Amino acid sequence: MITVLGETSEGTPVLVIGTIADTIGRSIEGVTQGVSEVFFDPVIRIGVTGLSRAGKTVFITSLVANLMDRGRMPGLEAARSGRIEAAYLQPQPDDTVPRFDFENHLAALTGPKPHWPDSTRSISELRLSLRVRPRGLLSGLTGPRTIHLDIVDYPGEWLLDLALLEQPFDDWSTLALAAAETRPEADAYLARLKTLTPSDKLDEATATALARDWTAYLNAARVAGYSDCTPGRFMLPGDLEGSPALTFAPLPPGDTPRGSLAREFARRYEAYKAQVVKPFFRSHFARIDRQVVLVDALGAIHSGPRALEDLRKALSGILGAFRPGRNAFLSSILGKRVDRILFAATKADHLHHSQHDRLARIMEALVSDARRRADFAGATTQAMAIAALRATVEETRTIQGHETNLVRGLLLDTGKEAALHPGDLPADPSALLAPARSGADNWLDGDFGVMHFAPAPLSLRAGDGPPHIRLDRALEFLIGDKL
Ligand code: GDP
Repeated sequence: MITVLGETSEGTPVLVIGTIADTIGRSIEGVTQGVSEVFFDPVIRIGVTGLSRAGKTVFITSLVANLMDRGRMPGLEAARSGRIEAAYLQPQPDDTVPRFDFENHLAALTGPKPHWPDSTRSISELRLSLRVRPRGLLSGLTGPRTIHLDIVDYPGEWLLDLALLEQPFDDWSTLALAAAETRPEADAYLARLKTLTPSDKLDEATATALARDWTAYLNAARVAGYSDCTPGRFMLPGDLEGSPALTFAPLPPGDTPRGSLAREFARRYEAYKAQVVKPFFRSHFARIDRQVVLVDALGAIHSGPRALEDLRKALSGILGAFRPGRNAFLSSILGKRVDRILFAATKADHLHHSQHDRLARIMEALVSDARRRADFAGATTQAMAIAALRATVEETRTIQGHETNLVRGLLLDTGKEAALHPGDLPADPSALLAPARSGADNWLDGDFGVMHFAPAPLSLRAGDGPPHIRLDRALEFLIGDKL
């Protein structure tokens, strides 16, 4: 059902509620499909990851909505040529993984008072099935096929834990404490550490306080723009919150007598790896066919050179998971390899389109080191600048005699409209990456501002999904060959 709420000045009907109602209505279609069919149809598992606030939730919501209403997807050949006959949600195959809350997230983004949905806190999954006519010669001979897209959303922080598998407790502690000592966010933890002797007898209240302070530090460090924060599950614990496997923290290496805090923390660290980290890689990561890594590169640039360098290092850690040769455990569990990886710099709607190429180049440069070392075991990779949900419009104004490209949108905190010129990104990414690597405190050529925009109220025409930037091309790269 479509509800016409009004008309624009050109007389175009403004449709808001219809899209959501249609989407939910169509999701029921899937339930009536026969189970046998589900077994034989091709399945593509798409992993969507990225550090917290990178834009995973918005990306999946907009992607699914734009696959259901394909009016804004000309860059996806199967959509442009009309070969996708239908797209509908189905029950997902994994009974123990939470379902991605698509309907509520879409309602948040496209309702009468649009707002950003709640972010990814844990793993979730959604199955979208497409009925697709084959291309070329086959099209006249066979009927449409059903292809299932199983979209798996999981925090990038969990991939950073892969490095822990090869680090004993002392090694991890030394590295984690060295990073913490350079960050004021860790002051409380480091101060508490000074008040105790790790070789003393374990006391649960002290253990809990240490874990709590370490978690608070990790969360504050993430907000400050640091990405290198382990153990990853401490920040997004889900139902493991408070369990012993998440109640430890790094300690300076030293004696570890039986029954001591140090001995118990080392044991819990091993339990964390065996019972939290490995099961995730075995049950979920090992089954992914195609992967999107979302990166808030603009946010890191805005936070400054240290945050950008830290992001580069964290990406290198994340990408280690896609080079299984490096890690004995990973090589032993991977049956198949991820054969396409998309690196997408998100929130490109903060920039005028004339800057998008530069953002894509920065994205490429951020992962180029990791890429050079091994070409991701044969996977095809691509870097792109995208916006899953376009919250701004572009305009050009003359400011102090110069033509200036701006983006305009509603500010998240005040709801007022504002136009922004965030600063020009350099044509050569090394102008940012070099000072970041050498530990500069500030950018030489001024700062890059990022305003936080609210999602704009939408007036969607029937058949159009939410507005985006290059979501269609992202999807063409990821799955175009399979459709
Ligand atoms: P997650 O933690 O990776 O799931 O991140 P979210 O998808 O929840 O996104 C985090 C925040 O980034 C959102 O609340 C928005 O403020 C912002 N954001 C995400 N995607 C976009 C986008 O396409 N455009 C803009 N302007 N902001 C976005």
